[in-house]
Amino acid sequence: LSEKLGGILNRLTRRGSLTEADVDAAMREVRRALLEADVSLEVVKSFTDKVREQAIGATVVKSVTPGQMVVKIVHDELVATLGSDAQIIDLNAVPPVPIMMVGLQGSGKTTTTAKLARRLTQRDKRRVLMASLDVYRPAAMEQLAILGRDLEIDTLPIVEGQQPAQIARRAIEAAKLGGYDVVLLDTAGRTTLDDEMMAEAAEIKAVASPHEVLLVADSLTGQDAVNLARAFDTQVGLTGIVLTRVDGDGRGGAALSMRAVTGKPIKLMGTGEKTDALEDFHPSRIAGRILGMGDVVSLVEKAASHLDAEKAAAVAEKMRKGQFDLSDMREQLLQMTKMGGIGGLMGLMPGIAKMKSQIAASRIDDKVLNRQIAIIDSMTRQERKNPDILKASRKKRIAAGAGLKVEEVNKLLKMHRNMADMMKAVGRGKGGPMAGLAQA
Ligand code: GDP
Ligand code: MG
Repeated sequence: LSEKLGGILNRLTRRGSLTEADVDAAMREVRRALLEADVSLEVVKSFTDKVREQAIGATVVKSVTPGQMVVKIVHDELVATLGSDAQIIDLNAVPPVPIMMVGLQGSGKTTTTAKLARRLTQRDKRRVLMASLDVYRPAAMEQLAILGRDLEIDTLPIVEGQQPAQIARRAIEAAKLGGYDVVLLDTAGRTTLDDEMMAEAAEIKAVASPHEVLLVADSLTGQDAVNLARAFDTQVGLTGIVLTRVDGDGRGGAALSMRAVTGKPIKLMGTGEKTDALEDFHPSRIAGRILGMGDVVSLVEKAASHLDAEKAAAVAEKMRKGQFDLSDMREQLLQMTKMGGIGGLMGLMPGIAKMKSQIAASRIDDKVLNRQIAIIDSMTRQERKNPDILKASRKKRIAAGAGLKVEEVNKLLKMHRNMADMMKAVGRGKGGPMAGLAQA
């Protein structure tokens, strides 16, 4: 089985694109890694199905195996799934902004409440009031009060005999009267998912209208993570997730499970018992842990960047020889989009490095670059090799193909001429004006 072609251990590198067989072989390993990391079964299935489709046909970077390439694609998708949107706590509301913590007992709600209060106070200079709504465990309210005393952050005075929703109302009132910016509501959990907890959380939410409802969940949660997150999201409604005990040695598959079923962002992570152990969520760190194949990922990254450099050098060489055609230009534009603007290639050209900043300052953004690439994509091979044959009718066809006006095609051709001329001049050691490029 495993001796067969494919699989991560396959040392045979190959040029070309990933076949179904490549992807399926590697996906078996990936699936096992995800399950070992405690990603829930249903999420493993939907995630791998999605990535499988994406991976088939993808180009294999030189000097890595198809299996390694699949792992890299899986990793990138994992990072994107875990953290494609902004992760910040949203305080954009009329103060006092209520933030509510929910979750199972022992998940870290009270600790996280104190951590967040500390961050908002010390880093963000907000006035914070904390309130414990945990009326079930006698020591719970005292626990928050002690944390508050240590941090010099106010907690709502304890009044015996009140129901959680009443306390929530009192907390909001007190925060309004006291001129607080934020009021943190630390609710009571239960050891397991139960209806009473859900009903209580929903009631508190109705009373407090929290701007954020954060599910605090232990990163060591296993297969239950899906049910947990789904239940809280459907029955109470979440705005985000806080992952605790990231300092533990679990692989953190719960992060993917919860994110996948709720679609809600993971906003923060707890990395220790102390109140300063709170960090912004790092998708790549968690993705690396979940997949547990960091070596493969960095190997492929290295190979890919090497390949980009190789391609850039080849184009630079053509430029020097004055053979810079539109296909080469397309390659260069593509490199620029990858590098988030003008980059590598220019640096390889003698005498041009110093003009880089000038070009960067011009308005060559991704949108422009993508339009330019679209124009070249609408040309035939022959046209790319020999732009001189581009007369009016061909230009019209190309413009239509790219969904742009003929002027845009003309602009691109002018830019190409300028670049080619300049490259020739540089090749002869004279240096040349970059005006054409900067205007495009
Ligand atoms: P609650 O029942 O949800 O309020 O949970 P607590 O905040 O009382 O936390 C339960 C236990 O977990 C406490 O001993 C905390 O110190 C510990 N804890 C909470 N967050 C973290 C974390 O990020 N890392 C570690 N190592 N321990 C944590
Ligand atoms: Mg608590």
